[in-house]
Amino acid sequence: MIYATMVKINRIFTRIFAYSAIFLLSSAFILSVHADPNAATSSCPAHEINMLIDLSHEFTFMYDTFGAGEYLKEDTFQKTNSHASLTSNDVKLQNYDVIVINQLDSNIEFSDKEIDLLEKWVRNGGGLLITGKGLQTYPLNELASRFGITFTTDPVVPPFKLTDHELNTDVGKFEINTGSIGTRLSVSGDGGYKPIVFDSQNGIVAVSKIFGSGFVIAVGEDEFIANPSQAEVVNHQFVFNLMKWLGKNRLAKGRCIPDRILPENKIMQEEITLYYSDKVKNVPSIQFIKENLLRINIEIEKITGIKNEFQMSFIVLAGAGGSGYSTGQEVGIGSKNTGPDMLGVLSHELAHSFDNPNPPPEMMHPVASLVSDRVGLAFGGEYAKAADLSFQNTHDNLKRIDPHGTSLDISRYNGDTSFVAEPGDVHEGRWGKMYWIVGSLEGTYKFDTSGMYHFPKSNKEPAKELLQRYFRLKRQDKNYQSTPENIVRLFSIAACKNLYQDFLNIGTTLIHYDNAAVDKEIGIHCSSGDPKVRGSQ
Ligand SMILES: [Zn+2]
Repeated sequence: MIYATMVKINRIFTRIFAYSAIFLLSSAFILSVHADPNAATSSCPAHEINMLIDLSHEFTFMYDTFGAGEYLKEDTFQKTNSHASLTSNDVKLQNYDVIVINQLDSNIEFSDKEIDLLEKWVRNGGGLLITGKGLQTYPLNELASRFGITFTTDPVVPPFKLTDHELNTDVGKFEINTGSIGTRLSVSGDGGYKPIVFDSQNGIVAVSKIFGSGFVIAVGEDEFIANPSQAEVVNHQFVFNLMKWLGKNRLAKGRCIPDRILPENKIMQEEITLYYSDKVKNVPSIQFIKENLLRINIEIEKITGIKNEFQMSFIVLAGAGGSGYSTGQEVGIGSKNTGPDMLGVLSHELAHSFDNPNPPPEMMHPVASLVSDRVGLAFGGEYAKAADLSFQNTHDNLKRIDPHGTSLDISRYNGDTSFVAEPGDVHEGRWGKMYWIVGSLEGTYKFDTSGMYHFPKSNKEPAKELLQRYFRLKRQDKNYQSTPENIVRLFSIAACKNLYQDFLNIGTTLIHYDNAAVDKEIGIHCSSGDPKVRGSQ
């Protein structure tokens, strides 16, 4: 979770749940993850299996970072995250034992050339994993049908039953994420199929097929691999077995592979390079970024009071998906976003980039969204409307879940790198709580807060610049640690008032808070009428 040295993959992972139970099929949720973009494969430790994670047909963190990245340890697996088309010159299929392709709700097509290439590669011994959920119009079926497999639109019905497939060795159970609904598979053609998992009515959930010298596995559910609930642990052995089985021909012979492959096209925009693959060259989001990037940057500078000093130098327009990520230097945006959604995600991720190299704990994702909502307000029109709606939604959930603002513990995620599933409204309520805390300290919170705890104002009153002071302090703090104690500490200095007791009063767990040290810092920064931190960075 560290940016400054960009050593390893950052596994902070957040999802804004949409209200609908089918949130996983919609683009209305935001995934946010912070991954090391281009860590060079300067050293290539001994390992057995090379994996290519294709992100050009669907932008997902299931396979590139959060899920498989957790189980598939480096002594066995090396992987390349690729946003390039499979036919790009940079993607060399012969360097891989396993290729993973996921498609959830994207309509990005597979070209005939890509399908031919993959078929030939599998026939010659490669191992292909395809996962997703069937839709009426579902491009992944163009590829799957080449192997006699179809993703149907029939939902799977848990509980699941494991067959006596060798892949199930030492696997006790197969689970998918609560709220995620997979779809059954059907098979046809010349045999060689073996079901791996059935649902409760003997619908096929997962199936293997021997194809030429190679192997195909299809799973009608992608959440099994990045399941944010306890099923992640449940499926660990299953995922491990599956990848080992697919890679057993060892075609790539342990060659060194890059950590990632960027999309094959690029354009310069305001000194920032925008990368995009042939797959998304006609999407409206390219034009949106070209037209608005400069203004978004200016608005974030105004809102945060800091400049983007960490060389945010490129944007990857990823395969479809309504989500984004930031690593500081790189921001990734799902190409499916348009209009206010695009502004929201892009501003959120840029706000993280501004914030680097200090890693944002979970408590910072809502702050990034608060920044992005304020960018939306500055843009006006439909953007302001969407920002207002976002604000209203988080607010409504907060008021319902934590009506007095005293019970929902915002420190909950800190120190814990794993994402724990929780109901969408609780998640949004948690974000609303950060909005309310900032708004309460600034005196700008504009919704109904009757009956809610209020932060007493400091007599120094730097309230209007609270957020700017917070961001400046955070950047100045060389020893910044991503803990709730530090966030409360910096908000306290920004507000010129020790907020320890106030945060306790609103249900925040603070364990290692040094009251005396914070008082001293407040003395230093707030001794004059013009707090020192106010200086421009
Ligand atoms: Zn975020």
